[in-house]
Amino acid sequence: MRALVFDNSLRFDPRHAEPAPGDGDTLLRVRQAGICATDIEITRGYMSFRGVLGHEFVADVVETPDKNLVGQRVAGEINIVCGRCDLCLSGLSNHCRNRSVLGILNHDGAFADHVRLPAINLHAIPRTIDDDQAVFIEPLAAAFQVLKQVKLDGRKWVTVLGDGRLGLLVAQVLRNAGCPVRVIGKHPDKLALCERWHIRSRPLDDIIPRHDQDVVVDCTGSAEGLELAVQMVRPRGTVVLKSTLASGKPLNLAPVVIDEITITGSRCGPFREAIRALSERQVDVTSLIYRRMKLEQGIEAMDLARRPGVLKVILTME
Ligand SMILES: [Zn+2]
Ligand SMILES: [Zn+2]
Repeated sequence: MRALVFDNSLRFDPRHAEPAPGDGDTLLRVRQAGICATDIEITRGYMSFRGVLGHEFVADVVETPDKNLVGQRVAGEINIVCGRCDLCLSGLSNHCRNRSVLGILNHDGAFADHVRLPAINLHAIPRTIDDDQAVFIEPLAAAFQVLKQVKLDGRKWVTVLGDGRLGLLVAQVLRNAGCPVRVIGKHPDKLALCERWHIRSRPLDDIIPRHDQDVVVDCTGSAEGLELAVQMVRPRGTVVLKSTLASGKPLNLAPVVIDEITITGSRCGPFREAIRALSERQVDVTSLIYRRMKLEQGIEAMDLARRPGVLKVILTME
């Protein structure tokens, strides 16, 4: 099969080995997949991953032990878990001690003709969601995770830091939850998109951090993001950290202690809520698509997605 593989360097392999069948898993034919910041960070060394990249996808079921999935178009949760460890048994299976993660940790991803996942990871996609929207189910679920982790009662001062792919999803989810959310970013065209969605926005250059925000969600994908978030949040406020980064940066933790700030890491989220939001047109994802490219152009597509200001680049497998 064709695949985009990272193995110290990124290469397109026209004759990659098919994914090895595992017990009870489902074989999928990928229709489209989205490039995300995590894929780019992997090419910079994040997670030391080697293999087929890609974890945001829509696919057709080819072969499955689950009757309900036959003939379905699906999206897939990315954590492949054991179901037996202490964390799985306590309902924290996304943190399974024995997990592998699609295209990120010990499991080949979706930038390929075929991918395999356990049936339990898969969600059938209703007809009301088209393929372009469906590739956003995984990152949109990650945006919904913020609501699971932080109480937002509609009266809070909430800032989303970063106007990239994930920031623009988080901002829409928080707005829909009734938050007076504000986006801070560097790109006028993306801030204009926020205005169109009736979400307040400010250019980063205009910001003087005042330790006055109840919640700051860092979606910058940069080491500087957390530093700024800590300066923006009020004493006893919460910083939600969404960025995944290959390299750390020394951070002065004194303000965290002095202001008694809570820092919450945030990763994967609820697929069901993302599917419902897309199905009910509550979130605009189509405006985030920058370009569609063929899988063969994968290297070029990753280069494009790396450029500042470029939103979602989609790889098509047809
Ligand atoms: Zn992603
Ligand atoms: Zn487990």
